[in-house]
Amino acid sequence: MACPCGCKSRIQLCCIPGSRPRWTFDVHENNTITLHPSVWRTVGCRSHFFLRNGRVSWC
Ligand SMILES: [Zn+2]
Repeated sequence: MACPCGCKSRIQLCCIPGSRPRWTFDVHENNTITLHPSVWRTVGCRSHFFLRNGRVSWC
């Protein structure tokens, strides 16, 4: 996915069970996703946000 802050960085989230760090996401009926835990980039723009129902909530 592209970083939502607009810096155009790509964020790769690993959802493979057993790998670290890993994220899980729920896909809702309206095709939005909720991701958890939050995404915190440790490089670049250092964005920290949650993705809930397809919407970004900044920390
Ligand atoms: Zn960014």
